[in-house]
Amino acid sequence: MSSNILEKTVIDVHHWTDSLFTLKLTRDPGFRFESGQFAMIGLMVDGRPLMRAYSMASAAYEDHLEFLSIKVPNGPLTSRLQHVKPGDTILVNKKTTGTLILDNLLPGKRLYLLATGTGLAPFLSIVKDPAVYERYDQVVLVHGVRRVSDLVYGDFIQYHLPENEFFGEEARHKLVYYPTVTREPYVHQGRITELAKSGKLFEDLGNPFINTAEDRVMICGNPNMMNELAEWLDGAGFKQGSNAGPGHYVIEKAFAEK
Ligand SMILES: Cc1cc2nc3c(=O)[nH]c(=O)nc-3n(C[C@H](O)[C@H](O)[C@H](O)COP(=O)(O)OP(=O)(O)OC[C@H]3O[C@@H](n4cnc5c(N)ncnc54)[C@H](O)[C@@H]3O)c2cc1C
Repeated sequence: MSSNILEKTVIDVHHWTDSLFTLKLTRDPGFRFESGQFAMIGLMVDGRPLMRAYSMASAAYEDHLEFLSIKVPNGPLTSRLQHVKPGDTILVNKKTTGTLILDNLLPGKRLYLLATGTGLAPFLSIVKDPAVYERYDQVVLVHGVRRVSDLVYGDFIQYHLPENEFFGEEARHKLVYYPTVTREPYVHQGRITELAKSGKLFEDLGNPFINTAEDRVMICGNPNMMNELAEWLDGAGFKQGSNAGPGHYVIEKAFAEK
């Protein structure tokens, strides 16, 4: 097994729904990352590590690691991972990477974090990072899901973050949570792509239509949603940022399509 792979212990497992759960693990002092990045995690299966990419949902300063996971029926990893219990061992590769980091964006006024499903995970890390409130006047976290029960971490975002002893005050003033549901009635309904392109999202927030002068965007989720939004932003003159240089927006797939 690669010397980069650490064996960490499960501290807690929380099942939100029959398709989503959160894993909390012990963290190694040698495991370092920036808010928004991902690592490979997994289990030993038939004597070999079976690893998949996972975004850290915990903050870079927290002493545990947290991951939000899907349960894919018959998925090689998640059909097993969903059964782990406190005390079990999880493999974590200490090489971390990813494009959804604050330094990959040019300075701006507002930051839009657009996530579908488990694409929320990297943004949980970012909204717990005090640096995001230093850099932006407003941070809008949009979470698009199918059902109301998929709006995981809603209470944490709305009620716990504003009480944080270090940046709660900033979060209270700057963080706006915009959950939207596609398959059930809810206060906000519809796909992120439609809400953004039609301008409804910006109207609801009382913000101007998205523009390169003021707005920066991070997108993580379903690859179709991500591609559609990236194309739309390109058409509006937004430049994509990466680890090679900052831009107006950055993207990361929340999963690879087969
Ligand atoms: C950069 C990156 C970051 C990722 N971060 C996360 C994360 O934080 N949490 C997470 O649960 N997964 C994440 N994934 C997906 C993850 O790597 C695995 O695909 C997932 O854990 C399922 O593994 P599996 O072996 O059970 O099934 P796989 O064989 O890996 O996947 C089977 C199929 O299930 C679907 N699928 C896989 N993952 C998801 C998902 N998250 N949401 C919806 N459909 C999915 C896809 O259609 C895929 O082809 C990420 C993927 C990438 C590329």
